[in-house]
Amino acid sequence: MEYEIVIGLEIHSELATKSKIYCSCTTEFGGIPNTHCCPVCTGMPGVLPVLNKNVVEYAAKAGLAMNCKILDFSKQDRKNYFYPDLPKAYQVSQFDLPLCVKGYIDIDLNDKKKRVGITRIHIEEDAGKLIHDEWETGSLIDYNRCGVPLIEIVTEPDMRSAEDARVFMESVRSILKYTEVSDCKMQEGSLRADVNLSVRIAGEKELGTRTEMKNLNSIRSITRAIESEAKRQIDIIESGGSIEQETRRWDDEKGLSYSMRSKEEAHDYRYFPEPDLAPVIIDANWLDRIKSTLPELPDERKKRYIDQYKIPGYDAKIITASRETADFFEEAVGLSNNAKAVSNWIMGDLMNLMKNSECEEIPFSPSHLANLIKLIENGVISGKIAKTVFKKMFETADEPERIVEREGLKVVNDEGQLNNIVSAVVKSNPKSVEDYRNGKKKAIGFLVGQVMKETKGKADPQMVNKLLKDELES
Ligand code: ADP
Ligand code: MG
Ligand code: ZN
Repeated sequence: MEYEIVIGLEIHSELATKSKIYCSCTTEFGGIPNTHCCPVCTGMPGVLPVLNKNVVEYAAKAGLAMNCKILDFSKQDRKNYFYPDLPKAYQVSQFDLPLCVKGYIDIDLNDKKKRVGITRIHIEEDAGKLIHDEWETGSLIDYNRCGVPLIEIVTEPDMRSAEDARVFMESVRSILKYTEVSDCKMQEGSLRADVNLSVRIAGEKELGTRTEMKNLNSIRSITRAIESEAKRQIDIIESGGSIEQETRRWDDEKGLSYSMRSKEEAHDYRYFPEPDLAPVIIDANWLDRIKSTLPELPDERKKRYIDQYKIPGYDAKIITASRETADFFEEAVGLSNNAKAVSNWIMGDLMNLMKNSECEEIPFSPSHLANLIKLIENGVISGKIAKTVFKKMFETADEPERIVEREGLKVVNDEGQLNNIVSAVVKSNPKSVEDYRNGKKKAIGFLVGQVMKETKGKADPQMVNKLLKDELES
């Protein structure tokens, strides 16, 4: 049997506002436990929350960037449950009237487009953190994260593979970073996802029974969890069993998921409207102003780069995935007027060095790269030596001219100096010289190599070729 995998994601993203959703405590990550809180965010009796307007603005921005309709009337609701990291015993969220509905993101799968529907985006507050590790006698609670604003992005069940989910998550991250709605640091939990997954026989119309895996905090663990869960479900169906609707916990170290609770044990959250907060009413002019602050988004930028700079679609996609890289590209092209060269350096050496050093920011400025390109264009250094200079530039952030000067990397194109080396090489390699003179023209390659070796790769290869030919054919 051929099976089809069906995936819907619920993505939580912490917003980049300076203060929390209902009080003025800082949202800064970390800090000494329980120092970023006040009576409001620790849920003391009798306090009154006040909605942070920036939270609405950031969430609306995310909604607009994901092609959602922004409801002009939405409200906040209490989602009731008890857990020690939630001192109020309810989370303020949005239930039946979320801020944003009915959007979509077009994802780019190896030049095939696919539209993933966004069911809704709502605002809510984060909970605190339990720390179990260090104390054998009990658990400790850090309330610093209580009340940090979140958006939850719920998708339609439109994804069909781990690859779809990976590309979708990358698009979401890219959009949230472009719009500066979230810093999306997955290692700090700023972006995390619940994976809902079912399988069905290919061609079947009805959806299968789904399971949900909660709180996956890296794209890698999302794709691994999907592959493992799809296989688990298919194996059960193949052996005549049926899937139970349940919540599962993914253990990334073991590469396995475990049942947490079944449908029967599922919470009834007893949602009801939050009586301490007024409905959120969106003014059309205000929303227009927000719209006008949206930056050019990754997809539009990609199209423009292909048109304007004539770089390949693949390069454009990778360069525009991060706003920093895209801005860097554009500035370097502006200074060097050589889009293809800038794109090649970014796609090749830069991406490699960043990956290998786990560096997240480009350590030198666009003018460094533009100057390096000019050094090659003006024949000051060879393309090969430029790679060495680039690596040094990456490590030290020094200007390329300084590196070339300091390390003596300029092209050797002094005819007299090169001629001496050529003569010496010809003298000490009689076999190759004879081969060449007997018609094996390829033998010159070896001799060029010897001259290059003598000059540590700095000789102007065209000049070396010409001088060698003159010498061999005289
Ligand atoms: P809940 O709020 O209980 O988690 P929802 O119905 O709102 O449930 O669905 C949550 C997520 O599950 C959505 O992303 C949705 O697309 C996805 N989903 C729903 N049914 C299925 C299914 N049969 N297979 C895969 N995903 C599903
Ligand atoms: Mg859910
Ligand atoms: Zn507070």
